[in-house]
Formats: sequence, C-alpha cells, structure tokens
Amino acid sequence: MFEASRPPDEPCSPEWIRRLPKAEVHLHLEGCVPLDTIAADGARRSGVDFEPQTGTPLFRDLAAFLAILDHSCALVTDGGRLEKIAYEIAVRAAANGVGHVDVIFNPVHWPAWRPDLQGFVGHLDRGFAAGEADMGVTASLCLSLTRTQPPGESVELVDWLLAARPDRVVALSVDGNESVAGHTGRRFAPLFERARGAGFRTCAHAGESSGPEGVRDAVDLLRVERVDHGIRAAEDPALVEELAARAVPLDICPTSNIRLGVVTSLTTHPIERLRAAGVPVSVNTDDPLLFGVSVTDEYLRCTEAFSWEPVVLGEVARTSIESSFAEPERKRWLLAALDHFLEDACAPAQRGKDSSDGGL
Ligand SMILES: [Zn+2]
Repeated sequence: MFEASRPPDEPCSPEWIRRLPKAEVHLHLEGCVPLDTIAADGARRSGVDFEPQTGTPLFRDLAAFLAILDHSCALVTDGGRLEKIAYEIAVRAAANGVGHVDVIFNPVHWPAWRPDLQGFVGHLDRGFAAGEADMGVTASLCLSLTRTQPPGESVELVDWLLAARPDRVVALSVDGNESVAGHTGRRFAPLFERARGAGFRTCAHAGESSGPEGVRDAVDLLRVERVDHGIRAAEDPALVEELAARAVPLDICPTSNIRLGVVTSLTTHPIERLRAAGVPVSVNTDDPLLFGVSVTDEYLRCTEAFSWEPVVLGEVARTSIESSFAEPERKRWLLAALDHFLEDACAPAQRGKDSSDGGL
C-alpha cells in the first residue's frame, strides 16, 4: 500500500530510499509484460540472444529490444491479462514508494488490439482502478506514436485519441528508433500541436538513439513538457544550459541506457552532470520486467555511484512528482507527503538550532 509515512531513521538507507515518496514517469506498458517461454522463443528466432545462466535477454541494441517487445505483447490477447498487467504495475509501484505512474503504451506493439483500442484502454483502466483502490497508487496513460511508422498511421492514432478521449489517457508521446527514422520533428509537430490544442499533455523520447539534435527537436518542434531520456543533451553544453534555464525535465532510466548500450557504465552516465548543471531529472525504470530493475534499485544505484545526499534524492523525487501527469490535487498530496518525509533528513541542523534557540 502506498501511504505517507514517517521515514526510517537512517537517510539514504535502502529502506529510506524505498519509502521516499516519488512518481515514476517513464514506464512502458510493453516492458511490464512478463516474458514467457513462447515469447522468448519468438525473440530468439528474431536474433535476440539470452544469457545462458539466467535466461534473461541480452539486448545488443535498441532494434533487438524493440523486437522482443513485439513478441511478448503480441501474445496478450485476453482482456483479463491486460487488467492483471496494469494491476501489477500498481503493486510494484506501491512496493517502491511510487504514488503515481505515467504509463506509456504504443499500439504498434499490440496487433491483437489495433481494431479495438477503446477496449484495450478500457481493460487497462479497470486494472489501474483496482490498483488505486487496493494500493492507493494513481495512474495515467500516454499514447505513444512510433518514429518509424507510416505517417498515415500516426495521424489515424491521433484522430482516434482526439475523438475517443478514452478515460485515463492524458498524454501524447512518441518513441521508437530515431537513428533509423532520422529527423522526424517536423513530421510529428502538427500532431503534437493538435493534441496540445485538445488538452492533452505531451512528452517524447529523444536523446537516446538520437543525439542532442533530437532533444532540441523535441523541445522546439514538438514543444513537449518533458523529454524521455534526453541524456545525450549532455553532448551540447549550450543545450544543457537551455534545458536548465527553461526547467525542462528529463525522465532518465540509467539501467536501460546501460543495457541498451547508450552509455557504458553508471559512473560515466550523464545524469549527474545534467543534474549538477541545473536540469531537472527524475529516475525511472523504462521497462522493469525486461531489465529486471525496480525504481528503488535505480535510486540506490545512483545514490551509490554519485554519493547522493538526502537533499539530492529529495530533489529527484520532487522532479518526478512535479513533472508527472498526475491530477493537480494528487500532485499536491504527493509533494506534501515528500516534504513530510524529508523534514528530518534534510533539516536536522536547522531543527537542532530552532530547539536550542527555543531553550534560551
Ligand atoms: Zn522509454
């Protein structure tokens, strides 16, 4: 159950980090589908290698990773299974101190549901509603386009989104392999403009398979509210300065970046340089079941690699909540829970001073 609670005594301990109130804003539905034997066999046939000992997939590059998603999601043809996948997202969130999740789904990976997207999101809605009732975790959905899909398909999806306005779907996103698709900012810009005009929130994958120019396109052409990954912005100091000045949040997934070969190790990961330069960053899992990571793991690894203090962890958690697509009232509640949690860890000196002042 996600609940606001007093923190354990030792700041930055695994339990303290686990219970730190936060949101997860970069999480793909497709990466929350358990990889069963049939899907794994299909992926093998598509050329994906597996670790012999553990049987976990080895993603040589983004293309292999996207291939595996197609195999695992294609097998989900039953609505009850979709509800369970959504419910389990809430279970994992609650277990990691996550009070709100923004979940990205991309219809391209769900062929069985293409003729019935309304039914698809209806099942997800039921799963998330049950998760909220049982676990106190709220969830929003972001419909994602694909950079490499035929332009007509993207238009159809946005037409559907604006006409159907399905419950719980609050945002438009775009993902996919930018190194294959090339510059697509101008092609997608009118679709993002339409979604924004109809009251939808926006985010976009960029600066993962594209360089800093992809991040610039996402911010200037798509005019998104936050950038998914965005880490290769670090290659362009002027862009970093601009992202910091405009307070554009980057929702970063360190393990995903390492597993997909975008960076070589956590110690060389640009998240700390971006954060130190004033860019708002959050820490997320991307695809927790495929990478075998939890939000707590990701926060812990960063804490260890960059010696993050409670105040830094508090900042990162605050960015995750502020940049989320949660309802304003829910955001206020989560931010209040975070402030309450951080009271002791971030202001012990001040509190000591106040009490000694009071004694004089
Ligand atoms: Zn992603």
